[in-house]
Amino acid sequence: MKRPGVVSDFLADQERCRVSNRRIRRALEEVFSRLPETVSQALLNCKRPIYIVQSSRIGGVVTLGFAPGLTLLTLNEALKERPLGATVGIIAHELAHLALGHRFVAWEGKRKLRLREEYEADAQACQWGFRGPMIAALKATVEEEAQNRLAILLQGGYHDQRG
Ligand SMILES: [Zn+2]
Repeated sequence: MKRPGVVSDFLADQERCRVSNRRIRRALEEVFSRLPETVSQALLNCKRPIYIVQSSRIGGVVTLGFAPGLTLLTLNEALKERPLGATVGIIAHELAHLALGHRFVAWEGKRKLRLREEYEADAQACQWGFRGPMIAALKATVEEEAQNRLAILLQGGYHDQRG
């Protein structure tokens, strides 16, 4: 069952997709265009609707208690300074958390998921075809945890189903 309008409808929805910076928006569009269609449809048609917003204050994925059933992916404005590929990797990783049912995610925030969940999200993003962007994203992150994840990616621990 093909529903090609889902992604373009979402990106055009100014309530659910409030990303104004052109570079961040381009990265977001690239991720959604490369996601397997079944995945993007599942994410965007989820019972907990995804809202994607741009913020100068926080980054990462946050589930807001005041809006039950809502998933908010907040993309920090600072992403616009990063190479496009790295931002694509970060967004793919965050969407992987959502697809895997992980909650309370932040790329560089205080609230961290368990390391196992980070590895799972990395592996999922690789399966979707984002191994290269994931490596670019982790290479630009100095913290030890990111370097450990990078080492696993570079060892080929996760397989990119698209080759
Ligand atoms: Zn993560």
